[in-house]
Amino acid sequence: EETKENLWFPKSPAAEMADGFIRARFALGDRLDSTVLFRATVDPNDVIGFSGYGLSIARDVVEFHRWDRGEVQAMGESTRIKSLRTATSVELALWLVGPHMVAQLYDGKTLESLGSLVISDSTYPSGRLGLRTYVKQDAVSHLTHLSVRAAGTKTGSHWEPAGARRFAELDMSVLSDLPVGIDLEVVEPRGEDQSRVLVNTDRRGLELLRRAGVTIHKLEPEATFAFLDSDYRKQRGKAPERTATGFRTDASYKDADMVEALIRAYHERFPAITKLVELGQTHEGRPILALKISDNVEQDEDEPAVLLNGAHHGEELLSIEFALDAMATLLEGYKGDSRIKRMVNGAELWVVPLVNPDGAQHHITASLRAGRKNGRPAGDEEGFQTRNGVDLNRNYPFRWHSQGEATSSSDPRHSWYRGPVAGSEPETQAMMRLADSEHFAASLSYHTLGTLLLVPYTIDNVQNPQPNEAWGIAEAIAELTPEQPNGRKYKVVRNMYSVDGVDQDWLRAAHGTVALMIEGPFSSPSETKRLASVESTRETWMSLVDRVLDGPSVYGSVHTASGEPVVAKVSIDEVKLLEGEVWTSRCRDGRFERLLPGEGSYTVRVEVAGLEPMTKSVKVRAGARKRVDFELANAGNAALVDALCSDRSLCSAQTVCEAEAGRCVSPGAPSWCRLDGVCHEAGSGEGCERCEPSRLALEWSAAPTGTACGAASCEAGIEHGAASCAARGGCVAAEAQSCAPYLACDGGACARSCRSDGDCVDGARCEGGSCVAGEASSTAASLTAVRSVGEQESAKDRASSSEGGCQQGSTRGRDSGSMLLLAMGLGALALSLRA
Ligand SMILES: [Zn+2]
Repeated sequence: EETKENLWFPKSPAAEMADGFIRARFALGDRLDSTVLFRATVDPNDVIGFSGYGLSIARDVVEFHRWDRGEVQAMGESTRIKSLRTATSVELALWLVGPHMVAQLYDGKTLESLGSLVISDSTYPSGRLGLRTYVKQDAVSHLTHLSVRAAGTKTGSHWEPAGARRFAELDMSVLSDLPVGIDLEVVEPRGEDQSRVLVNTDRRGLELLRRAGVTIHKLEPEATFAFLDSDYRKQRGKAPERTATGFRTDASYKDADMVEALIRAYHERFPAITKLVELGQTHEGRPILALKISDNVEQDEDEPAVLLNGAHHGEELLSIEFALDAMATLLEGYKGDSRIKRMVNGAELWVVPLVNPDGAQHHITASLRAGRKNGRPAGDEEGFQTRNGVDLNRNYPFRWHSQGEATSSSDPRHSWYRGPVAGSEPETQAMMRLADSEHFAASLSYHTLGTLLLVPYTIDNVQNPQPNEAWGIAEAIAELTPEQPNGRKYKVVRNMYSVDGVDQDWLRAAHGTVALMIEGPFSSPSETKRLASVESTRETWMSLVDRVLDGPSVYGSVHTASGEPVVAKVSIDEVKLLEGEVWTSRCRDGRFERLLPGEGSYTVRVEVAGLEPMTKSVKVRAGARKRVDFELANAGNAALVDALCSDRSLCSAQTVCEAEAGRCVSPGAPSWCRLDGVCHEAGSGEGCERCEPSRLALEWSAAPTGTACGAASCEAGIEHGAASCAARGGCVAAEAQSCAPYLACDGGACARSCRSDGDCVDGARCEGGSCVAGEASSTAASLTAVRSVGEQESAKDRASSSEGGCQQGSTRGRDSGSMLLLAMGLGALALSLRA
C-alpha cells in the first residue's frame, strides 16, 4: 500500500476503557513494527489526528508513546530487549491503573519474562483500544490476539474506578497537615460541630494517611451525589437567593433542606396567595410540605383542586425541579401573566415538590445507590442502610401486590419493595390524607426518566372508565408541550410496564382524579440540560390546569335543604366505571368536580344509601364547566345521618378518624392510628404494641425496649420476673427463678428473710434472718437487728432492679440467683462429702 501506516479502532463498546488490563500477542517476523493503542480519542473525520497512548514494539525496541492530536512523542526511555530477535512470538500484558501504566513482555512460547516498562502520565484518563502498524511490515498477520478487560464502571462519559477510591471520615484538624503528594478531595464537613470531614482519596492516599498516623474514623466505598455535583456543593446550606420577582431556583439541584427553605421563602414572600401545610413527617422526622396556591387561600373555595408533586422517588432530582418550577412560575407570574392569574384565581393548586425528602437526602449525602425508596428501616438493622426503604410508588392501596413479584417486591432491600401493608408509609399516608380531603380533579406526578406521559390505570388487566377522558386530556397535553432537549416529545402511554401500588392509580380509583404521571427526559442531567428540561416541561402542568379551568366538565355540590354538606356517590351515567369505583362528594362542603371526555349531554346521578337516587341532565358545551347542585330535601331521614358531615372539621386533612364512632373514614390522621379497622389514639396500646402515628398509622409500632408488659409474680418458691418488651418486638417473660435458698414467696417476689430453718431450702439454715448454706441448726439466733439489715439490702436490691427497665433488672436478679444456687450446690456437695 501507499499509506505509511494503518490504524484500526474496533467499534465494539468493549474497547472503551479507563483502568484495566490489555493482552496482545504477536507472531514475530523480521520486520515487526506495531503499536497497541489505548485510552485513545478518535475524531472520525480525522482518524490520523487521534490522541492517546501507545506501546510500540519495533524489532527489539519497546517504548511508550503519547499522541496529542496526531503529534507523537516518546515517553521515558525506550527498552531494547535483545531476545526479541530470536523469539518466534511475544506476549504483551499491559496494566493501567490511574496514571500508572505497566507493560510486561513474555516469550510467547516459553512464557519466560523478557522485560518490563513503567510509565506515569495523567493526560488521557480513558478512551479506546486500537492498533497501529507501520507500512514497512506486514503487520496485520502478526497480531494473533488482542483483548481488553476494563476495570470500573462507566456512567455517562465518566469512568468510576473499581474500588480504587474511598470516602474516608477524618478529623477536620488533620487537613492543615496532610502528607505530601496526597490525592485527596474534601467532600463535606461531618458532625454537628463539623469537627470531622469526609474526603475522597485513592488507595495510595489511604496508605499515606495511615503512615502519617492519621485516624480514619470511617471508610465508605459509596459515592454520593454531593461528591459528583459541584454546583450542588456550591449552593448547599445557603439561604434562598432573593431576586426581583421571587427567588433564584436554577443554580443547582436541591437537597431536602434547600427544598424546604425555598418553599418557606416563597410562602413568606407571597402570603396572600399561599398556605403552607405540613402533611406529615418522614421516618427521619423531616416534614412533608405542601404549598396551597390560590386567591383567598385561607378559604376552601368552590374551585377545582389540582395536585402537582415531585420525587416520590427521591433520587429523581429533576422531578423536584419540575415541581419547584411550577410553584415559582405560579407565584412570580401572578401579577403580570394573565394565564397564570386565571389559574391562581380559578383553581386551588397544591404543590408538593418533594414527596420523599429522606430519599432525596440519602441520595445526595449517603449513596448514589440510595434514594429511590424512603429509607424505612428493615429488620433489626439500626440507622440508615443503602438498600432499605419502601418504594412509595408501589405502596398505594389500589390493587397493591396484585401482580405477585413481577413489578413490586416483598424483599425490604429490593428497589421495588412495596412495604409491609398497603399505604404503610408516612409519605404515602400524607399524600392520601391530602387527596381524601381535596378530591383533586386532576394531578400530575413528576418522575424521571423516559419522556413519557402515563395515564391510569397502569395495571394492564384493570379496565379504564369508558369513555376514558384521561387519555384524551393526556394526548392534548403531549401535543401542546414542546420537544424536550433530548429531541423527543412526551409520548402518551398506559405504562412502561404493568405496575401495582402507584399513586396515580389510587388517585384515579379513590376519587376519579385525572391522575397523570410524567417521566422526564433525563435523569439528573447537568446544568444546560437541566434548565432546558425544566423549561420545556413547564407546559405539561400549565395545559393540565388550563384544561381543568376550560372544561368540558361538570361540578357542583350535594347538600341538604338546610345547607349541610352530604357525602354522596356522584356518577355520570354516560361514563361507565368498570372496576366498582365509588367517587363521592367531599365531606367538608359536599363538592364534586368531574372532567368530561367531550361536549354533549350527560346525566349526573347522586346516590345515598337508603334514599332514592337523584339525577339531573345537563348539556355541556366544549370549553365550558357546567354547574349542577343537588339538594336532598329529607334531612330527617335516618339514612342521611351517616352521609352528613355535621362537624365539617372532621374531614380536614388533619383529622379523618371518627374516633367517637370508633370508625375510620380514611387511612389515618396525625394523632390517630387505624388498626384492624378500629381507631386508636396516639400513645394507646397494650403489651408491646403502641399506636404511634408519626411512625406507622396503619400498623402497631413496637413499644420501647424494656417496657413492662407483664407483672412480676411468685408462687411456691418460684419467682417470675416482670415481662418486658424486647428490642425486636414482642413481650418476653423473664426467666423463672427458684427462690433458693429461701423456700417461700413474699407477695410477688421471693422472700428475702427467714425466721427459722423451715423458711430455707434443704441444705440451708436460717442465720441472722438470712438463709445461708449449711446444715440446719437448732440454735436460734437473736435476729431482730440483723433482720433489719437484711431488709435494707433487699430494698436496695429492688431499687437497683427497677432502674433501667425491668428486663435488665430481672437479668441482674437471675445472675445473682444463679450465683447463690451455685454456692448452695457447692455447699451441699461439701456437706455430702463430709457425711
Ligand atoms: Zn420514579
